[in-house]
Amino acid sequence: MTFKGGCHCGRIGFEVEGDIEQVVECNCSICSKRGYLLWFVPQEQLRLATPQADLATYTFNTGRVRHHFCPHCGCAPFGVGSDKKGVARAAINVRCLEGLDLSALKVVPFDGRSL
Ligand SMILES: [Zn+2]
Repeated sequence: MTFKGGCHCGRIGFEVEGDIEQVVECNCSICSKRGYLLWFVPQEQLRLATPQADLATYTFNTGRVRHHFCPHCGCAPFGVGSDKKGVARAAINVRCLEGLDLSALKVVPFDGRSL
């Protein structure tokens, strides 16, 4: 199925293809501060509907993950990076998807703080 998502002001809009089997709630420094609930998909399943140039990007530590956010309203709808095998993956913040019942999702805790 296709999900539509975006930031609060609409400058960032996108679609994601796939089925949400579970989402990850990670306790690392950025996930806990941003309140991410993450759904990991192969990057090609994410289609940006607004200009790439409108994405602001934050990186830290190894810089392997590009945490995108809206420079206008501050929402952080997704990040992109590569997994250990070098496969491009997108981490979708399901809080920024439309029409989703967050309470119905299977939330899996992840201890990213200990990595
Ligand atoms: Zn925005």
